[in-house]
Amino acid sequence: MPELPEVETTRRGILPYLQGRKILKVVVREPRLRWEVPANLASELARQTVTAVERRGKYLLLKTRKGTVLIHLGMSGSLRLAVVGEPLKKHDHVDFILASGRCLRYHDPRRFGCILWLTDAPSKHPLLAELGPEPLSREFTGEYLLARAEGRTTPVKALIMDSQVVVGVGNIYANEALFAAGIDPACKAGKLTLERCDALVREIKTVLDRAITVGGTTLRDFVGGDGKPGYFAQTLQVYGRGGQPCVACMTPLKETRQGQRTTVYCPRCQT
Ligand SMILES: [Zn+2]
Repeated sequence: MPELPEVETTRRGILPYLQGRKILKVVVREPRLRWEVPANLASELARQTVTAVERRGKYLLLKTRKGTVLIHLGMSGSLRLAVVGEPLKKHDHVDFILASGRCLRYHDPRRFGCILWLTDAPSKHPLLAELGPEPLSREFTGEYLLARAEGRTTPVKALIMDSQVVVGVGNIYANEALFAAGIDPACKAGKLTLERCDALVREIKTVLDRAITVGGTTLRDFVGGDGKPGYFAQTLQVYGRGGQPCVACMTPLKETRQGQRTTVYCPRCQT
């Protein structure tokens, strides 16, 4: 599933081909995504120039003077830059054809993603209005996290994965950040001290920053080639390593499951 670093890498990858460029037309081959692609998207976007390519949480925003295209990649979505006329692959549902001869192609086998057209301020849209701060922003601090944790009995892992608290901390990154901060994922949020909130915020920023940096090395993949987006293998300390020795103390890592989500932690290093 594309997480914040993959979405940010996608944004950086497509930005130079979209910003200031004119969209000639939009071809919607399959409108049935998580929500139906609006019927007027093609007519509204035709001949519009993309003024900015932004990201909010895991949503991409292609801005024009007339409105904003909001894109979410869902579980299996990806965007790549094709050349006009390039043969279609199965599940290539939408093309944004640019005057430059390039084409931004949306691919989504499971169709849990979405492409919507907003004419009001994106921040007011119901999907974005309730979102917490960006994890890499100055707004996201230990003090902020402490205030949001106060009095809550939810496990700290659930707290940091709550997009109303902070956006974009997916399961892999939550596991990694909690390990790096030495915090038991099941620790009740309300018991966190400022010192521990500071450490956790610092590690969340570090793990996401690192993933974005690694993603940057895959940028070339956005253009041509197999067009696979930057889902990058990075060195993970706990995620996917249940039962294996902790990198710090050699204690076997514990793995638990809640629904689809796996939690991996070191019972000795994380308290
Ligand atoms: Zn350990």
